[in-house]
Amino acid sequence: MSDRDGLIWLDGEMVPWREAKVHVLTHTLHYGMGVFEGVRAYKTDQGTAIFRLQDHTDRLFNSAKIMRMPMPYSKDVLMEAQKAAVRDNDLDSAYIRPMCFYGSEGMGLRADNLETHAMVAAWTWSAYLGAENMEKGIRIKTSTFTRHHVNITMCKAKANGNYMNSMLALREALDDGYDEALLLDVDGYVAEGSAENFFLVKDGIIYTPDLTSALDGITRKTILRLATDLGIEVREKRITRDEVYIADEAFFSGTAAEVTPIRELDRRSIGAGTRGPITEKLQSLYFDVVYGRAEKYRDWLTYV
Ligand code: PMP
Repeated sequence: MSDRDGLIWLDGEMVPWREAKVHVLTHTLHYGMGVFEGVRAYKTDQGTAIFRLQDHTDRLFNSAKIMRMPMPYSKDVLMEAQKAAVRDNDLDSAYIRPMCFYGSEGMGLRADNLETHAMVAAWTWSAYLGAENMEKGIRIKTSTFTRHHVNITMCKAKANGNYMNSMLALREALDDGYDEALLLDVDGYVAEGSAENFFLVKDGIIYTPDLTSALDGITRKTILRLATDLGIEVREKRITRDEVYIADEAFFSGTAAEVTPIRELDRRSIGAGTRGPITEKLQSLYFDVVYGRAEKYRDWLTYV
């Protein structure tokens, strides 16, 4: 990943990809206190556009606020940096990774001289959970790892350290032959995937867990809006794993995962065991929106 051509925005300037380095005493590397985003840009008829750039940038700043990390740049500067990371690398479509981290100014939990640094990289990333799975759906497993408790780490922050839990759950699911994990909250209710929000469909109504211990996903927000615009009722509520077993359809949403159908949980096939009709409708509209084919939602696009 680090040995390639290209440019990465680091602390205000574009630097060659191979030279975008930090010291081994980088504080965030030791303790995980950092905040980041995952953003996508798509090739539209009118040029490459970043989807919901403002919302992702707002969430980055909210994450930093929760973690009490001072932000060294304004939202405008970081939005420009994200556009530049796509443009200056000549990417038509991209996954964009902004991150804010503490440097090597100090060490130890008591360090009081830390400075926040910022980077933005962008590269090409196709379907995160596999192209054919976008139609076929994925097989998932209830994780033995519990999702974060709201008072242990901060679930509203997209914080680096939170992803240890995601990686433990995902690695376990992959090693057991599944495509993704489904994490339950501390009370045993469905929370989310390792990097996706969760939805099920039952009798024509869409259900999704509330945000107590799940990230406030921007794709989730998009799905809620699109479903409402399509006249499909959506309810946020606590969901048990056995409600998923007997659901008609289920899917994950996320910037990387986009809208990925789920065909099986814990070896119980969901509905017809393939992408369901409501999932298909939402997935298709989602792609129309991000590729700029749906006039009504053009405000969500920022051309680079
Ligand atoms: N939950 C977690 C834990 C995630 O990492 C992500 C990906 N950012 C999501 C949900 C989906 O969020 P979004 O739609 O904003 O990408």
